[in-house]
Amino acid sequence: MSLTDIKSMTLEELKNSFAAIGQPAFRALQVYHWLGRGVRGFDEMSDLPKPFRETLAAENYIACAEIERKYCSRLDDTVKYLFRMHDGQLVESVLMHYEHGRTVCISSQVGCRMNCAFCATGKSGYSRNLTPSEMLSQVQAAQADAGTRISNIVLMGMGEPLDNYKNVLRFLELVSSGEGMNVGMRHISLSTCGIVDKIYDLAEQKYQLTLSVSLHAPNDEIRSRLMPVGRRWNVDELLQACRYYLGKTGRRISFEYALIGGVNDSRECAGELAHRLKGMLCHVNLIPVNSVKGSPFRKSTPEQTRRFMRELAAQGITATVRRTLGADIDASCGQLRRRYEEEAANV
Ligand code: SAH
Repeated sequence: MSLTDIKSMTLEELKNSFAAIGQPAFRALQVYHWLGRGVRGFDEMSDLPKPFRETLAAENYIACAEIERKYCSRLDDTVKYLFRMHDGQLVESVLMHYEHGRTVCISSQVGCRMNCAFCATGKSGYSRNLTPSEMLSQVQAAQADAGTRISNIVLMGMGEPLDNYKNVLRFLELVSSGEGMNVGMRHISLSTCGIVDKIYDLAEQKYQLTLSVSLHAPNDEIRSRLMPVGRRWNVDELLQACRYYLGKTGRRISFEYALIGGVNDSRECAGELAHRLKGMLCHVNLIPVNSVKGSPFRKSTPEQTRRFMRELAAQGITATVRRTLGADIDASCGQLRRRYEEEAANV
């Protein structure tokens, strides 16, 4: 018999499954509280009768994220984790310290299928989706290691969250639940490369989370060269979905734009981008691209970056340059796992 992933269950589901075996609803709440607190075994659920803990352990497992490697930045307080899942798969999470609290950036898949040209994750291929409990476990493990509450979560690590839609939705329900970790939707950001049909689906949920859309180019010609997903849905279709999302949720869209020297950082690109975003409640996040080993892309110069931002501002589009955290510890998408695998292959 295969064990049930109990940490991926909602409180409602726990109540129903406990009712079926004659257990009262308050037991479900007790177990749900323990799972939200990140216990690693049923033994730790000290207010449950021992025989019941044994019954639970015989039928369920508790997903955990084990720290395989931990890198602390010497430049700032950023910590990068390489977590090992129960089947040995490795994923990355990053803990960042901002004035407004601790933010953890988590992965949604082991690897990624999107293959963006500038991204390290896609280069290591795709293995599988993460379960809701495995996403929760990354937050809990980082929180336990840091010893303080995590107030913000960004789904911006390895993987494409909207390519793992069902599990990500369930994770969002679990992590924001008042009886669980209680991280409010307003403190959660989800970053997507632009899976248009799922943006429409997500809009219907009317969550108050921040949707970040990785745009990275002002037109189809440049975008589909950088991002294969751009060949499935063009920029017009993507922006239409963003407007729909905005209309349904009232939440400002955040556009990610990685500045790549000589590719998408010209004055014309800035003008074209401003033109396309005109009138939309949005913000542009400019990120000097991180050069990944084996990729031909180089960061735009600081001067070019400033010029791009000024050009957007002149046309009424608010943009900021993302502060680089953890620059010394490969703290961007997929870089750490790649280095770790290369090291392992060289021993
Ligand atoms: N799949 C999601 C989230 C993962 S990546 C998405 O595409 O949005 C989080 C952000 O980092 C995305 O905006 C992604 O495009 C960007 N990114 C990936 N590799 C990068 C690199 N080498 N330099 C700068 N940004 C990068």
